Amino acid sequence: MKRSIRILAICTLCFIYSNLMAQTPSYPIVDSHCHIKTHLTDDIFMTMEEYFAENKSINIKYLFGISFVQRQGNLEEMKVRNDSLFSMARRDSRFIPVCSVHPNDGDAAIEELRRIKDFGGKIIKLHPITQNFPILSNEVFNVARVAGELGLIILIDGYGFVIPNYVEHLLKLAMSNPRTKFIIAHMGGTDFYKLGGLNLVQTLNPGLLSNVWYDLSATVKIYADSPYKSQLEWVIRNIGIDRVLFGTDNPVTSLSEALNAFYKLDFNETEKENILYKNAVKLLRL
Ligand SMILES: [Zn+2]
Repeated sequence: MKRSIRILAICTLCFIYSNLMAQTPSYPIVDSHCHIKTHLTDDIFMTMEEYFAENKSINIKYLFGISFVQRQGNLEEMKVRNDSLFSMARRDSRFIPVCSVHPNDGDAAIEELRRIKDFGGKIIKLHPITQNFPILSNEVFNVARVAGELGLIILIDGYGFVIPNYVEHLLKLAMSNPRTKFIIAHMGGTDFYKLGGLNLVQTLNPGLLSNVWYDLSATVKIYADSPYKSQLEWVIRNIGIDRVLFGTDNPVTSLSEALNAFYKLDFNETEKENILYKNAVKLLRL
């Protein structure tokens, strides 16, 4: 009896170990969408140090840390937040600042884009809902144009949920600014299925929207255990495996939750490595 219990215990340990090994890739990972505390009022966000401490068992190559100002005209807060991100990057070379401006700040926003570039910034975040601006406006087009001229990538929220034509407007913004690279966050969220027809459009018009990438943050957690799992895999393949980045949207999803959800998708090791690591490194030339 005792022997059979011992054998059962050993088999259980082997099973747990093999599962852990299956989820421990030989390559590092990039979290390309994580909200980071840059201000005393950011109660719900982790500091960079807390994030790395919580995930010290995971081989993180880069963390894209986001901060944005919510209100137009708050120029001092905008600079303080952006400076805070750059100071984190100086403390840890794995940290990639994702700064922000408010498009409706006009010339001040453009001036801040130039300052971000001078500091070595590579990417900015815009959030039409939280920052409360319409996507198709002259101010947003101006920021998109200058970001493109400076070589700054725009990570823009893609989870419109109840807002009509949100993803359509984001794609129109990207089509109107082909020199600017965009990452549509959450791959469109609950509207991700709308992206499934992209490759047909691109067959007819090669190069259309070749300036757009998509991050899987939050959306992978929602759909990995859902009846839409295979649809999500199908849309990712239609968009192109090389166009999709892994992210957490922390604190919405922790890194381990996002990874566990991602590993439930049916991709081979090469595809996983591209989404978890290589695509982000290539896009930002890290
Ligand atoms: Zn987010």
